[in-house]
Amino acid sequence: MAVKRTPFIAGNWKMNLDHLQSIAFVQKLAWALADAKHDFADAEVAVFPPFTDLRSVQTLVAADSLPIGYGAQDVSAHDSGAYTGEISGAFLKQLDCRYVIIGHSERRTLHAESDAEVNAKVKAAHRHGLVPVICVGETAEDLEAHGPSAVPVAQLRAALDGVDGSKGLVVAYEPVWAIGSGQAATPAQAEQVAAALRALLVELLGEEVAQSTRVLYGGSVKAANIASFLREPNVDGALVGGASLDIPEFASIVRFKKHVGA
Ligand code: PEP
Repeated sequence: MAVKRTPFIAGNWKMNLDHLQSIAFVQKLAWALADAKHDFADAEVAVFPPFTDLRSVQTLVAADSLPIGYGAQDVSAHDSGAYTGEISGAFLKQLDCRYVIIGHSERRTLHAESDAEVNAKVKAAHRHGLVPVICVGETAEDLEAHGPSAVPVAQLRAALDGVDGSKGLVVAYEPVWAIGSGQAATPAQAEQVAAALRALLVELLGEEVAQSTRVLYGGSVKAANIASFLREPNVDGALVGGASLDIPEFASIVRFKKHVGA
């Protein structure tokens, strides 16, 4: 079944830019993207600011009808209650977030987030009408010991346990060794794992959901390499960390067609 998936370019700001900086940044990003209107129409763009920026980003995007989506970098598995420091999916929905990143490798390693917690957060996102961007990826040690696909496939299988695929999801394959290292996977490596993840989506959620789900690559994506990833049949976009904080660079990633000549 041939399904056209709109490329998705997602910028994960991590813990950068406060709420005042986020306003100036999103305004400038919108101007940079407006210059590229023709190409921009071919991709969906979203930013993932820190929680404290979301209200400001919401106000700006709504006031100026900016064609930029946004989401949070994490969500609580719980809906409300005694969970100090956590943020409910209900609050994110009230801020018109469309997406939420779940299971980023920095949360899995720095906050010991387990596959079971990732699964509970995916379900929480769906309870509140948010689309989870589920991150999976192997470390350099995993790659050495198990090859490229085993760990990401196992992580995605756990993340999707009991999940209703019709509620929407995005998968981001992010090899941990490629994140922030300047050493991206090769397009062939990204495609191999993306194809394995899509095969798992077929097995767990059925052909229709699998073919309409975007599988992103993340890890040292730049304007110079984005086109090579998007040429691969199972790679539908990118989750961009460092380069998403550089407006000309990020806008140039969004204009990936210029680099492919496609
Ligand atoms: C990320 O943290 O999701 C990421 C892909 O980072 P970078 O683009 O900086 O490698």
